[in-house]
Amino acid sequence: MRKQIAAANWKMNLTYQQAEKLLDEILGADIVLKNHQLTIFSVPYPYLLMTRSEVEEEFNGNYKVAAQNCHHKKNGAYTGEVSAEMLHSLNINYCIIGHSERREYNAESNALLAEKVNICLDHFITPIFCCGEPLQAREAGVQNDYVAVQLRESLFHLPADKIRTIIIAYEPIWAIGTGKTATTEQAQEIHRHLRSVIAAHYGAAVADEIPVLYGGSVKANNAKELFSCPDVDGGLVGGAALVAADFIEIIKALKQ
Ligand code: PEP
Repeated sequence: MRKQIAAANWKMNLTYQQAEKLLDEILGADIVLKNHQLTIFSVPYPYLLMTRSEVEEEFNGNYKVAAQNCHHKKNGAYTGEVSAEMLHSLNINYCIIGHSERREYNAESNALLAEKVNICLDHFITPIFCCGEPLQAREAGVQNDYVAVQLRESLFHLPADKIRTIIIAYEPIWAIGTGKTATTEQAQEIHRHLRSVIAAHYGAAVADEIPVLYGGSVKANNAKELFSCPDVDGGLVGGAALVAADFIEIIKALKQ
């Protein structure tokens, strides 16, 4: 089975003390992750090391830590930025790339995101590559083309042996933080489409290996249904990942 992943995206939330408490509650819960299951905490930069040391205590190593962004250049005069090389030097092995909030507020283009994907892979960091359409594209019925362009322009320069190592998160912008969730039919349909776009370029074997997570108001009470779709391999979770009891239920909803 492909990896099934519950990824928390804390965004710019929680104090250090609140973050420690949340992690303690989640990691102290009665959850045994199977070999094919991962839980990833995407945390603010100042919390990376603390989170890494907390998850390192978990016996089966299926808890991981991600940054929420990195710069596209190797190093240099970019005040306030954080490089992939820095993350690698902290033994951080995952990074969200192209979240819709960064695309919107930081004008991150598909071309720039291709550079970020490259620099992550050069530093042994798995990109969690986000794609997803705005409401107007969904209403116009062009969501499939919209996400296909995002994949082509940011990922399809990669050779097969690289793209097969990444994680994709499909996050319809109209569902992020809005309480509106894609129906299971909508999620399955577009996840299957994403896989078919990858398969058309790289072949079905590569497409079948890549986890495609759903993001957009995943909650404790809808995770099981969404994750049961054959092409949905878990979720990227914002708001509900800030509440221990909810995120624990979401982890438990991963395919067994
Ligand atoms: C997200 O930030 O990636 C997200 C999906 O947020 P929420 O779960 O709050 O919609």
